[in-house]
Amino acid sequence: MRIIETKAEMLAYAAADHDIGFVPTMGYLHEGHLSLVRRAKAENKKVVVSIFVNPAQFNDPADFEKYPVDIAHDAGLLKAEGVDALFLPSRQEVYPHGVPLLTLRYEALMGRLCGAFRPGHFEGVLLIVHNLFMWVKPARAYFGLKDYQQYLLIQKMARDLELPVDVVGCPLVRESDGLALSSRNVRLSATGRKEALKISQALLKAKRDFSRYTQNLPFLKKQLTTDLAPLQVEYASFYDAHTLEEIEDFSKVKPQVLIAVAAFVEGVRLIDNVLVT
Ligand code: AMP
Repeated sequence: MRIIETKAEMLAYAAADHDIGFVPTMGYLHEGHLSLVRRAKAENKKVVVSIFVNPAQFNDPADFEKYPVDIAHDAGLLKAEGVDALFLPSRQEVYPHGVPLLTLRYEALMGRLCGAFRPGHFEGVLLIVHNLFMWVKPARAYFGLKDYQQYLLIQKMARDLELPVDVVGCPLVRESDGLALSSRNVRLSATGRKEALKISQALLKAKRDFSRYTQNLPFLKKQLTTDLAPLQVEYASFYDAHTLEEIEDFSKVKPQVLIAVAAFVEGVRLIDNVLVT
């Protein structure tokens, strides 16, 4: 597996091959990331993974400082998966003139769910993903539906800027007990981890209840809130999966429904969701 640290080398590598599957990450890899890598392996001649903990997308500096890093371990996992190149740019390489003041913004979409609580987060995500696409030049790029809002925004950006890349959404991967895999889970104590299970349990129950009580949205929302107590919840509700608007009446619209939660456990911000059709 080739390790690439500069944009110049990445561009040269990309120029030599035009069928690259790309998986951008912030590292501290787990099975969720590896599921994207395996999909990319199956669908492309070459697979490039990037690891860059992007300061521009952390609205909370403490979260950035505490973000776990283990490049040697990550590189071992990626090598074992048969990844062709690992792109590991430094901060200086990515932002030689500091973080750009240019903002890529979808006003309505970014005002909902995580966007409403993390000012500047998605602007930072779109900028880095856009630039990574420029350097890696992938034919296809793989994103987890765990970060559903992020996937939606990146897909729209690629379409609107006519970036020549297919943005592929991949299923959310869970632990055997249901907890959504996340690099941040490592910051939870054993007790915290148990508390965090409430999130996936509440979501899976909401999904089951949804088919039985579709006509009773207030009941469904109340149940979800009750099941998450006493966690510190940022948002938890039923959303139109295309616009991310909170659904007020299922009888008026019959969209694909996203049930999504963001909550804090031991100061760690966790997100999870399920899609219902
Ligand atoms: P991150 O390193 O957290 O920026 O994540 C990199 C990519 O992995 C993103 O596309 C995430 O959506 C995806 N990802 C993270 N956790 C999971 C998971 N549990 N299941 C599926 N994809 C995931």
